[in-house]
Amino acid sequence: MPAQWMPDTTPQELVNLTRSLGEPSRDLVILAEGNTSQRLDSERISVKMSGSNMATATAEDFVVVDVAEIVAIVDKQGATQVELTDALDAGEVGGRRRRGSIETIIHVAVQAVGQAEFVGHTHPTDVVGLLASVNAATAWDYFVYSDEAVVVGTPLYVPYAQPGISLGRVFLRELRGYADREGSLPQLVLLGNHGIVAIAPTAAGVEAVSSMAVKGARVRAFAHAAGGVAPLPSESVDSLFARDDIRERRAHLAQGK
Ligand SMILES: [Zn+2]
Repeated sequence: MPAQWMPDTTPQELVNLTRSLGEPSRDLVILAEGNTSQRLDSERISVKMSGSNMATATAEDFVVVDVAEIVAIVDKQGATQVELTDALDAGEVGGRRRRGSIETIIHVAVQAVGQAEFVGHTHPTDVVGLLASVNAATAWDYFVYSDEAVVVGTPLYVPYAQPGISLGRVFLRELRGYADREGSLPQLVLLGNHGIVAIAPTAAGVEAVSSMAVKGARVRAFAHAAGGVAPLPSESVDSLFARDDIRERRAHLAQGK
């Protein structure tokens, strides 16, 4: 079934998260950039529409899409951008075209590989700055301070691909690779020359991961300006993760507590 426009099914928590991430002072997105989604059940997500502004989002700015259907298009050899765009189209209602964001593929890919309640995709200036630099692919190879390691864990870096079906394919491949290696979904995905994807079991978790990604990027930029990054020693990170109190803190943070 193609996308459906059903504003009554849009969860209020998703609207609140979207507006919060879209707040201009946070500089995570401008204009109609960025998108969010929430899992509705084992088959469907509610995802932001194309062309709507996060800061002023309402329940009417979301459509419901079928995860398996969109993933099948991304996985199908020879599938075209037009096919994907058509599947995201919920038709014209009230004189306005209701179509899921072209970046819906990021959101369905997450649900196809693992399961997450909330996904938030933004283009924070501080992070995109580093992801558009010559250090993009390696900037997050090491943690730069301990709270970052605790909140974000090991992020996934995905090289640049054109938004649309190309990005969908690269993103899905890299996400599957990460899940095979690590046995779970990442909490943070860094998209080269593009932005971030925060994945969490709660809306507050998406907020926490997004904010920490911005802070981590700023710390790296300062460190580069001050002569270069001195990463946290990996033995210290390993022993940090092994501590019971840190394990407990990570569990709470994932819930946004
Ligand atoms: Zn984007």
